[in-house]
Amino acid sequence: MSTEIPSLPLNNGTSIPQLGYGVFKVPPEETRELVLTALEAGYRHIDTAQMYRNERGVGEAIAAAGLPRDELFVTTKLNNAFHEHDAALEAFDRSLEELGLDHVDLFLIHWPLPAVGRFVEAWGALEELYRSGRTRAIGTSNFQPHHLRRILAEGTVVPAVNQVEIHPWFGNEEVRAFDAEHDIVTEAWSPLGRGRVLEDPTLARIAAEHGRTPAQVVLRWHVQRGDVVFPKSATPSRIRENLEIFDFELSGGDMASITGLDRGERIGSHPDEMNNTGR
Ligand code: NAD
Repeated sequence: MSTEIPSLPLNNGTSIPQLGYGVFKVPPEETRELVLTALEAGYRHIDTAQMYRNERGVGEAIAAAGLPRDELFVTTKLNNAFHEHDAALEAFDRSLEELGLDHVDLFLIHWPLPAVGRFVEAWGALEELYRSGRTRAIGTSNFQPHHLRRILAEGTVVPAVNQVEIHPWFGNEEVRAFDAEHDIVTEAWSPLGRGRVLEDPTLARIAAEHGRTPAQVVLRWHVQRGDVVFPKSATPSRIRENLEIFDFELSGGDMASITGLDRGERIGSHPDEMNNTGR
């Protein structure tokens, strides 16, 4: 079975594997082993964050795997507490130290935090990090079009990606369209809707028709839409299952049926309302 993971070009000439392994809520003490399982299964893209508190385990797994650094794609994200310019730079230094790396592939502002009002300042710090070469690309997470418009107007680097909530119950089409229009790759977080969408009978039907699992069908839907995904699982068999999505294809009808499940239902916070800076 093919597990060849395609890469998508980013707007700065780098590229990103379209499927990765996400480690939100992976306990720090289990992170090393699970990320190592993912790397051994064939994942080459890991999505972590300062606020997940498991960068050290990600770094330990990378070291243990012994893969060439240029075959790996590592993303981390700025802690909400550190939007102030110097604090952002210092937080980035700590990330590299925790990860045991001399650069990451992608560094994101995790949330815009409108009540804090400093995401443009934070973006300035990310631009400096990008120019220093210690992150190969920079981007945003949970940015709505009106947040991105400010970055485009006041910054000098166009975000390479925007990572937002997307799954069959929440298509987030407006943000996807804005990203596409501005050559920003969309990354879909909680691509499986944290597992909740997988009971849907439409997904069960399509999965049965293709001899796949509902999770594989949902991940395949994201990939055919052109988004980047990094499902999380703490179960080794599911970590491997989630990789096996590149040797079958959903029809136009299947795609439309899954897109039609959109209920406008978020699992996470609305980016305009999320202002939590607790660490
Ligand atoms: P997800 O949609 O990836 O769902 C994970 C859950 O789905 C698992 O805990 C498990 O219960 C279930 N699952 C996984 N594989 C399965 C399979 N094959 N069969 C059946 N059930 C399966 O949810 P997530 O972890 O919230 O999102 C994925 C990643 O997105 C995170 O780990 C993180 O990297 C990123 N993320 C980013 C943000 C952000 O604000 N930027 C927010 C949430 C998540």
